[in-house]
Amino acid sequence: MINRAIELIRKSKKPVIFTGAGMSRESGMRTFRGEDGLWKKYSPEKLSSISGLKADPEAVWNWYRMRLMTAKGVVPHAGYRALTHLQSVKGHLPVITQNVDGLHRLAGQTDVLEIHGSMRTASCMDKCGFSTELTSEIQKNSLPVCPDCGAILRPDIVLFGEALPAEIISRSYELAENCDLLIVIGTSVQVWPAAGIPFAALENRATIIEINPVQTELPHSDNVISIRRKAGEILPLLAGLKEKI
Ligand SMILES: [Zn+2]
Repeated sequence: MINRAIELIRKSKKPVIFTGAGMSRESGMRTFRGEDGLWKKYSPEKLSSISGLKADPEAVWNWYRMRLMTAKGVVPHAGYRALTHLQSVKGHLPVITQNVDGLHRLAGQTDVLEIHGSMRTASCMDKCGFSTELTSEIQKNSLPVCPDCGAILRPDIVLFGEALPAEIISRSYELAENCDLLIVIGTSVQVWPAAGIPFAALENRATIIEINPVQTELPHSDNVISIRRKAGEILPLLAGLKEKI
C-alpha cells in the first residue's frame, strides 16, 4: 500500500494536500473537537464567536493570548518537514488546511490555503485595512487596538457566526476538482463545508491517499488508499526522506 502511494505521488501531475486537526495534534497542539478538545472546557459561543467578540472583546483576547502562549513551544513535526520537501520536489503543491496554527507556514511551505484563517495574525475589526502579525507587544496589551483608526483588533481566524473566506473556499474547491491526487491528512472529514473537498476530488476521478490512524468518513473504494498511521511516521517515507518507519 505504501509503495503504491509513493508511486502515485511520483506520477501525479496535479497533487494537492488537505490537512485537519490530527496533523496539528501530532505536534502537541491542543485542538478543539474530540475527547480532550478545548471545547469540552471552554465555550465556543462566548470565546470564539463574532457576537462574543463584540460583547466582551477582552475575554476573547485573554483566551487568544492563552492559546498563543501554549502554541509558542509547538514546532512542526517530521510530517510537516516531509510536505515541505515534497513541495520542492513537485514544484507546485498547494496545501489546503483547516488548522489555524500556522504550522505549515512555519515549516516553510508556500501556497497554504488556511480555510479557517490564522491565529498568528490580527486585523482591524472596522476593516480599515490594518493587519499585523501577533507580536508579543500585541499579546501584552489587554485589548489591542488598530493604530490607524482606533478600532479593536480581531484575530484572523474564522469565528462562529462568520462565513468561511469565500475566495479561499472557492480556490480550494477548484483545486480539489482539478487535482489528480489529493493527500488527506489528519481530518475526520466531518466538518462541512471543508469535508466536501475530498468528495469533490473523488467525483472528479482523482485518487485519494488518506493518512489517519483512525477510521474516517471517506468511502472504501479503489480510488481511496487509507494508511492508518501517524502523519509524522508516514509522510517522510512517502516523500522519500526515509526508507523505513
Ligand atoms: Zn483600523
